[in-house]
Amino acid sequence: MAPSPTPPATAPAVTKVPLPAGVITGLPTSEQVLAWTVDDGSDSEVVRLYIEFARTSGTRLTFFLNGSYPGWSEHAKLLRPLVASGQVQLGNHTWSHAALTSLSDAGVVAELQRNHDFIVSTFGVDPRPYYRPPYGYRDARTDAAAASIGYTSPTMWYGSLADSEHRPEQEILGLAGEWFLPAHVVIGHLNFLPVTRVFPQLEQLITDRGLTTVTLNDIFRS
Ligand SMILES: [Zn+2]
Repeated sequence: MAPSPTPPATAPAVTKVPLPAGVITGLPTSEQVLAWTVDDGSDSEVVRLYIEFARTSGTRLTFFLNGSYPGWSEHAKLLRPLVASGQVQLGNHTWSHAALTSLSDAGVVAELQRNHDFIVSTFGVDPRPYYRPPYGYRDARTDAAAASIGYTSPTMWYGSLADSEHRPEQEILGLAGEWFLPAHVVIGHLNFLPVTRVFPQLEQLITDRGLTTVTLNDIFRS
């Protein structure tokens, strides 16, 4: 079967806002935009299916990836054009999903730098200044260590599909119903298959609510 055509991936017509200093938990805009962010990548097949979903639907996503998971190398060729067009943005989630608050300053830098180098060499983009601390664990000290190498925007969330662990499809849809709202940063995961079975429903929910998906670069002017 021939692959379905790729929709045009032009940036949405939204007014950009200045990137706030420090932690990001939402989008300071009155635009009807949703930042759907997706983390980790422990299941290579889920990584592939998310990329396919982005490619066929035109949905704009931000992946906070851990380069230590093999799926990012295995499917780099599939993902690269979407990254190059800006439809999918890559953020830094540390190399090995480390809890930053348990590391020394040098350890924080090493985890972010190794993943940074992987993203630059594999995808040809610079993820700075956006990073997501694994488990959301961060404090002023880890923020400062990250900022020392240009990672000045710890990107948290306001709403979760709660699928870092296995979660049934209906629960994921319920959480999307709760959190897919204007100006929200929502977190999901590339770890378990159920979310991939409800992509059409998630896409329909976004359409029904009149939302436009955006990457962080789509909405923030740095
Ligand atoms: Zn994570």
